[in-house]
Amino acid sequence: MIRLPIACLSLIVVSAVLGNAEAADPAFKRVSKTDSLGKFTPKGIVKFRGVPVSKRIIPDLEKLIAAAKEDGLTLKVRSGYRSYDHQVKTFKNWTNKERKKNPKLTREEAEKIANAYSARPGHSEHQLGTTVDILSSKSNYQFTSDPKFKYIGWLQKNAQKYNFSISFPKGSKEYVYEPWHIRWRPPTKTSKS
Ligand SMILES: [Zn+2]
Repeated sequence: MIRLPIACLSLIVVSAVLGNAEAADPAFKRVSKTDSLGKFTPKGIVKFRGVPVSKRIIPDLEKLIAAAKEDGLTLKVRSGYRSYDHQVKTFKNWTNKERKKNPKLTREEAEKIANAYSARPGHSEHQLGTTVDILSSKSNYQFTSDPKFKYIGWLQKNAQKYNFSISFPKGSKEYVYEPWHIRWRPPTKTSKS
């Protein structure tokens, strides 16, 4: 009669040891071309300077922007949270553009090309709300990976101080180099050491 509760209790203990609190935090969710978020919708999405983001990232985001300013860089958040449905449209737009460029392509072929730089619905880190695209006044707020723009190197060097990381660095197998695309994760005990 007492056996079942003990089994349950030990499961709880094992979960605590493995740090399931961290595993349950959506900010740590795995997202890739093979890991889908499905139709996951995050909580706590608010507008930051007109861009929807998770409110959890705002203190660090503000610090990052202020630190860049001190180094003479004006940064702007271009894109934050994108819902599953938004990504359906975004991915369709890119696929259509590829087919316009090359009308011989089948939809599948066009999707494959678009998927080198645009995520399929459910597979975008923007759906988490904790990922943003950062642009700079120096590059006229255009998406660029040209290292001649100082902010590219600045983000690479400094983003992690504010708990952001560049998801698709040079040589990433997932997508083309996206130095502007940074994902926030809360600091963990191990990351603080
Ligand atoms: Zn992005």
